Amino acid sequence: MSRKLLLTHDNVPNLHTIDVYRSKGGYASVEKALKKMTPEEIVEEVKKSGLRGRGGAGFPTGMKWSFLAKPEGVPRYLVCNADESEPGTFKDRYLMERNPHLLIEGMITSSFALGANTSYIYIRGEYFYVSRILETAIAEAYAKGWLGKNILGTGYNLDLYVQVGAGAYICGEETALLESLEGKRGNPRIKPPFPAIAGLYGCPTVVNNVETIAAVVPIVNDGGDEYAKIGIGRSTGTKLISASGNINKPGVYEIEMGVPVEEFIFSDQYCGGIANGKRMKACVPGGSSVPILPDYLVCKTATGEDRLMTYESLSDGGFATGSMLGSGGFIVYDEHQCVVRNTWNFSRFYHHESCGQCSPCREGTGWMERVLHRLEKGMGNMNDIDLLVELAKKIEGNTICPLGDAAAWPVAAAIKHFRHEFEYHVLYPEKVKDSKHGHKEPIMPVKPAPVMA
Ligand code: SF4
Repeated sequence: MSRKLLLTHDNVPNLHTIDVYRSKGGYASVEKALKKMTPEEIVEEVKKSGLRGRGGAGFPTGMKWSFLAKPEGVPRYLVCNADESEPGTFKDRYLMERNPHLLIEGMITSSFALGANTSYIYIRGEYFYVSRILETAIAEAYAKGWLGKNILGTGYNLDLYVQVGAGAYICGEETALLESLEGKRGNPRIKPPFPAIAGLYGCPTVVNNVETIAAVVPIVNDGGDEYAKIGIGRSTGTKLISASGNINKPGVYEIEMGVPVEEFIFSDQYCGGIANGKRMKACVPGGSSVPILPDYLVCKTATGEDRLMTYESLSDGGFATGSMLGSGGFIVYDEHQCVVRNTWNFSRFYHHESCGQCSPCREGTGWMERVLHRLEKGMGNMNDIDLLVELAKKIEGNTICPLGDAAAWPVAAAIKHFRHEFEYHVLYPEKVKDSKHGHKEPIMPVKPAPVMA
């Protein structure tokens, strides 16, 4: 059985209330941190743990914290990024719904480590009901003395606020989030300066994902070395995965880093295999913005190694034969799913969510959506497929924020691995008219023949 650190008690009734949470050992990390540790010691434990950002980028959290500028007389901020909007990703919502005090506990301990006296949880507008759960839990924490002035008599003060966004995916990008938090339009900023130097209101700021901040709780309780014992290599600890698509048991799973992908998809402990006895066709392992993998690269790497649920293994082979762990949004396609339709759907999303600041993203995502749409409807031609490849190349790396790359990668990867399916849409328009319900006949990936030396 896989070890759990974040979802240990998620089925306990009323865990969202502070009394039940406390009865399960909740807020122990705050007591330990504030009474027995210095902020520097907490940062050191987080560094030792090897924890990496769980929002998608996977940057080492302890290193990010150590970049925080500390000028005299200038406030510092911790901002929790709860703007979880990546299609296929819903693990932060699950955590906040069931266990809001775990996030609040992580916010207190992390704020203390960073020297912040005011912190924010920025949550997406569509999670309005979750913001209510958080606000109720925060009110309980104030009432019991875990927030506010002179917490536990240690002299440490912290105010924690929930800010609800207005429903823009781009506000999950950390600088767009800060703009929005300041009351402005959520446009990403040009970096540098990075938020650690000039973030919220121009002050040093750390922005961390919900799961990242929650993971600080077991790290402080058990020590960074204990956390680092879980996992493989530079992928330490546990990871929340939101699994969806054509599987028997969609849901949120906490895995130990390093579980084989094959076990994750096919064992009853996790996804329980492909629904309706069908074959697996493909998998998008890290949310809609990461490259799709055809069936023969999902469970094995290009060199025949077992593919593992780690940052390194999922990206093995680069974008030629690998993908990314990303945000942990694990989407499985069965043999009847239409890759062209799904790629168009993702593209439509990114076009809609582009903030419009840079032309490769603003114009390019629109072009990709239109070309994909006509292909999907059986009204495209063979040149359209190469046009999409060109468009993706023109967008990638030429934009202010990663949304451009996020829009380009899925298209480039879909054509790389499923060109024959795009061609099928050109050659057999009458067969793809209603591809939203999937293809009537299965279309499986074609494994390239090995290159002979
Ligand atoms: Fe806006 Fe897209 Fe440019 Fe990001 S890449 S700043 S979303 S236009």
